[in-house]
Amino acid sequence: MPVKLADYFVSLDTYEKKADANFISHAHADHMSGLRSSRPCLASDATMQIVEAKKGKSYKRAELPKNAKMLSAGHMLGSRQLFIDSEHYGARILYSGDYQMQSSPVAEPIETIETDILILDSTYPYPNIEFEEKEMVISAMQSYLREKLTRGPILFTAFATSKAQEIIRICNDAGIVPLASGEVCRISDIYRKNGVDLEYAAAEGHELSSRNVIISESRNAGIIRNELAKRHSRVFTATASGFARFMRFNTDVQFTLSDHADFKQAISYIERTSPRAIYTCGPSSETFARNLKAFGKNAYSIGSRSKVNELILYNTERQ
Ligand SMILES: [Zn+2]
Repeated sequence: MPVKLADYFVSLDTYEKKADANFISHAHADHMSGLRSSRPCLASDATMQIVEAKKGKSYKRAELPKNAKMLSAGHMLGSRQLFIDSEHYGARILYSGDYQMQSSPVAEPIETIETDILILDSTYPYPNIEFEEKEMVISAMQSYLREKLTRGPILFTAFATSKAQEIIRICNDAGIVPLASGEVCRISDIYRKNGVDLEYAAAEGHELSSRNVIISESRNAGIIRNELAKRHSRVFTATASGFARFMRFNTDVQFTLSDHADFKQAISYIERTSPRAIYTCGPSSETFARNLKAFGKNAYSIGSRSKVNELILYNTERQ
């Protein structure tokens, strides 16, 4: 069952038959599965601009009732948490979506609010997965860019939505204007329209020289790499992702640049929102709930976000 707002039911980043509207926390594909042309969306304007650019069509908007708020999640442009002060449940409910506590040059900083029930995303469930301070990662990336750019072009592979924009900004802060694939340009144009200061040029139709940084999503990176290799004896390849902390990518170097909270950030988020119960969701929800319990938090795994309604009712009826 979807979650009841004041006068309608909303699903959380997922499709549910009985929902009247879908809350879309942000414009990453794994949070957009609830999209249907017939169903209104509850999301920030920036999220809807990116969603509509990706899907090539427009969607109806739902109105946010007075007992609900959308708060910045710090994850990417337009990302939001959903807060409901609910008479129906007799509790305040906060759904995190993807979030990060570290500040990002291409996302609004996270806002936090006290709640009774927290529905928490489980991307990094292990206490031993700890991200470095973002400034350190950025500084390592900029040193790499400055050093290698004198010797050949650098191809950066990254998610076209949010990570690519962060890399553009990191390049700009190092005095470099990168070239971007068509898809990266399309999303970056929306960031620019929403006031994010980014400087880049389209790679397509551009003479690719040895002094270029090119940013592309992985789907088209192979083609660009082959083009570069025809003209340059050395092409440097790099990627940036939170998963670089424990996965090996097929590039010369990989930087652990995450737009998610690690376990330590999750604890700090929980402390700032001070819920009496936490429901973890997502594929790693069981591990996350177990590890949060070990840190003294009252956490339960729900796996699917569609189980939220029943669990909140169960929890609040037992108070
Ligand atoms: Zn995301």
